[in-house]
This record gives sequence, structure tokens and C-alpha cells, in this order.
Amino acid sequence: MTVDFPNKHFLINGEWVCSNTEIDLIDPSTGDVIAQVSEANNEHVNDAVGVAKDTLENTWKNITARERSTLLSTLGRLIEENYDVLASLEATDVGKPLRQAQADVKALARYMEFYAGAADKLHGDTIPYLKDYTVYTLREPHGVCAHIIPWNYPMQIIGRSVGAALATGNTCILKPAEEACLTALAFGALTKKAGFPDGVLNIVTGSGKTGASLSQHSDIDHISFTGSVSTGIKIQQSAAQNVIPVTLELGGKSPQIVFADADLDAALPFLVNAGVQNAGQTCSASSRILVQKEVYPKVVSMMAKQYEMLLVGSAMDDLDVGPLISKKQHEIVSNYIQQGKDLELVATGKYKEEINNGGFYCLPHLFVDVPADHSLAQNEIFGPVQIIMSFDDEDHAVEIANGTGFGLVASVWTQDGSKQMRMAKRLKSGQVFINNYGAGGGVELPFGGRGLSGHGREKGFEAMFGFTTIKTVAHYHG
Ligand code: NAP
Ligand code: MG
Repeated sequence: MTVDFPNKHFLINGEWVCSNTEIDLIDPSTGDVIAQVSEANNEHVNDAVGVAKDTLENTWKNITARERSTLLSTLGRLIEENYDVLASLEATDVGKPLRQAQADVKALARYMEFYAGAADKLHGDTIPYLKDYTVYTLREPHGVCAHIIPWNYPMQIIGRSVGAALATGNTCILKPAEEACLTALAFGALTKKAGFPDGVLNIVTGSGKTGASLSQHSDIDHISFTGSVSTGIKIQQSAAQNVIPVTLELGGKSPQIVFADADLDAALPFLVNAGVQNAGQTCSASSRILVQKEVYPKVVSMMAKQYEMLLVGSAMDDLDVGPLISKKQHEIVSNYIQQGKDLELVATGKYKEEINNGGFYCLPHLFVDVPADHSLAQNEIFGPVQIIMSFDDEDHAVEIANGTGFGLVASVWTQDGSKQMRMAKRLKSGQVFINNYGAGGGVELPFGGRGLSGHGREKGFEAMFGFTTIKTVAHYHG
């Protein structure tokens, strides 16, 4: 199977369109240019929004929920059939180890399957009211949805946001990140093949300028944004100007809390993998490990041993850790590592072999005894850097865990059932995992943040509510 989409083009109304401005796409494993993308300007964005609006009114509104479900199922099947092509595109473009890119393809297909199944299960309510009234609610799509996504998990984020928006009857304009947009374009090509009407999904590639133009457009009805806090603030300001709802999926500083009675052998792979997966460039990366003082030396030594075995190499070498996405990201992460020079560095990973190219590699770093107010304990690094901190008791653990501006994901490792319950309630976090971390990705599980991690929920059935609005109909019939 192949997915065909032309180089240097984006997708408006089912047509591949280009502009005069091009951006180079870089393979992070080598630093080489692998393709170019066209930058959509204000006019293109305006066209895409106009098309999405017309298609909504004239075509998509007439398509039943069951038909949307069938289209999403077909799309899911096409994604599975193109598993190898999509995985190698994502691995090359993002620099992630091939196995991790393969898992992302599976997740994208699963999102389509999940939202295909959910499309015709969403309905309103009838509400008991005054005599001679019948009151019911209609769940309606917002209309034209903008999806602005980052480079770290393009396929997964397309799956959770565009999947749910299409299932609920919205038309979409997708703006992928300039560093990694190949699988977004491939996804666009597959929607055509699956039989989605032209104009239901439009894609505009380009830099932040394209994203700004899209988010400021007065005919957008909803924005789903995944990315950094600073851009999220700008997006929310644009949404405020047009008084439209916005979902913000921002960063995190997610803790794993290890109590003295935890099954440490069971915890160990989660403690490390959740920090170094995708080279730590994961919004839900677990960058803080909080360990109760009784087992602190033991956990430090277990994690250090694990770190020393971590191998770094190219996406296609398919090792534990690939390169960072870009030179810029490499500078940001290196700067944080530099800020840790006053801390104790207990272990790093290693290169499988000497790398003699322009790839953006960074060894995983494990720091210990990090004070709670240190920049490495407070800021999202978005690289393979983890810190370990010790705590005395439950109250102390909660204080440290809730002591950053973020609140995306947390996990608790203990065999004490009461403690598990108490901690789940006390943590300021969009998701809490007990004796695991991430629950295998969980397409079904509502996901989103608190505080600086954002607001609104995607994934699971909950996203179906986020991409719709309620209309209350009060019928007086005497
Ligand atoms: P970013 O710079 O905020 O970019 C995200 C998207 O917004 C990209 O498509 C970007 O375009 C676009 N953009 C940039 N400036 C814009 C503007 N002024 N108006 C509208 N759109 C604009 O984030 P990133 O560097 O790609 O991703 C890293 C950050 O995202 C991290 O902080 C991470 O935690 C967060 N993240 C969160 C989640 C989550 O689910 N919570 C998931 C992934 C990442 P260009 O790329 O073309 O500049
Ligand atoms: Mg790239």
C-alpha cells in the first residue's frame, strides 16, 4: 500500500494547493533535508475556512451519524493497511524510534475505530418540566473546528482531536507543526481515499504565522490546540476575541510517587520509560520521580542501572531513545542540562555507536536530590531528563507533587489501598494512575490538564461532549 500526496502541497477542498513560500523538513536523525512543505498564507487560510463553512452547511450537515461512522471505519482500515508507510514517515519526520512510530499508527487507527463506534451513540436528553411542556436537548457540532497541533505525536493528536470532531459532525482545518507534518498530509490523502466529501478536512501547513492566521479567523467556531503554554495563551486570546470555545492541551511536569511499600520491580520500567519515551518530548512525560526516604537510595540505584543501559541512536536503529526534533529543541534541552551542573548527575544513557552526522542527539540524564524550587524541578524540559526527589510522608509527597504550575498526569506506587484512594483525590492532575503509568495510552480515557497544563478534555467519549454544544428546545404544546 502507498499513500500518495504531492511534495510542497497542502489540502483545501480536496485539492492539493501550494504557495510560493517553502519550508524545509529535516530528518532529526541526520540533520538532512527530506522534503519541503508549502507555507499557507492568510489567503489560503481564508479559503480553507470558507470551504469548511460551505461544506458544513451544504454537505456535511446532511450526512447522518451512521454515515460518518462508516467513513471513519473505512479511514481506520486504510490507516491499518498503510501501517508500514505511516510508521516510517513518522519515524523519519519526528526522529522517533520505529517501534514508537508503529505504536502511533496503531493508536491513530484505534482512534478512528473508537470514534466510528461513538459517532451514532451521542444524543441529547428529555427533561421533565412544567405542565404542558416537552423539553429536550440537541447535541450539535460547533461547526468549523481548527486543530493546531505540535510535532511530537502528530498521528496520535490528529486521532484524538480530528477523529472526535469529525465523528460529531464538525468540519475541520488542521494545522500541523512545521517540523513534522508528513503524516498529517498522509492522513489527508487517506480521508480522500476513504470517501470523505471534499472540504470536510482541510490541511494548512506552515509556521506559527499560519497557525495565528487560523486561530484569529472570525469564522472558526472552536479551536483545539496542543502545544506550548506560551502559544496556548495566544490561542486563548484569539479565541476570546471571537468569543469561541477552546481546548488547550499544554505541557506538564508529571510526577510518579513511589511509597516505601511499593512493588519497586514492577514500578522500575514505568519510572524510566515514561521519562525517556520519544526522547522525553511527551506532554505527559514523567519528568519528576518522588521517592519516600526509606527506599530512596534503592530506587536511585535501580534507576541509575536502568539508565546506564539506555541506548541512543537514529529512528531507524530503533533503540530506546532517538534524537530530539530540532537544533532549537537540542539547544533548549542542553541549556537545562547545563542548569543542572550544580546537581548530582547519577547516570546517563549511551550512544550505541559513534554518531557522525548532523542529528540532534541528547543522552538521557538522571539527576538526584533536586530541590523542589530548582528550575529542573519546576520547568517542563521536553527532553530525556529526569529528576529524583525524596519525600517524608503522604502530606509531603502531595505538597511536592502539586507544587508546580502544571497538572497533567500523576502516578502513585503503593500497595496500601487507602493511600491509593487518598492520593488519587489529593493530586492536582487531569489523570492519576495507580500502580501503572499511562495505562498503555488509553484512547478511551479522557485526557487533559489543570493549571498550566490547559483545560478541556480530549480522548474517550468525553471528547464528544467537547466538540459539541447543547441546544435546549422547550416545546409548549398546551
Ligand atoms: P508550539 O510552539 O506551541 O507549537 C504548537 C503548534 O502551534 C504548532 O503547529 C505551531 O506551529 C503552532 N503555533 C506556533 N505559534 C503560533 C501562534 N502564534 N498562533 C497559532 N499557532 C501557533 O509547541 P511545540 O514546540 O510544537 O510543542 C512543544 C510543547 O507542546 C511542549 O510544551 C509540550 O508540553 C506541549 N505539548 C502538549 C501536549 C498535550 O497533549 N498536553 C502534547 C504535545 C505537546 P509551528 O510548529 O509551525 O511553529
Ligand atoms: Mg521533521
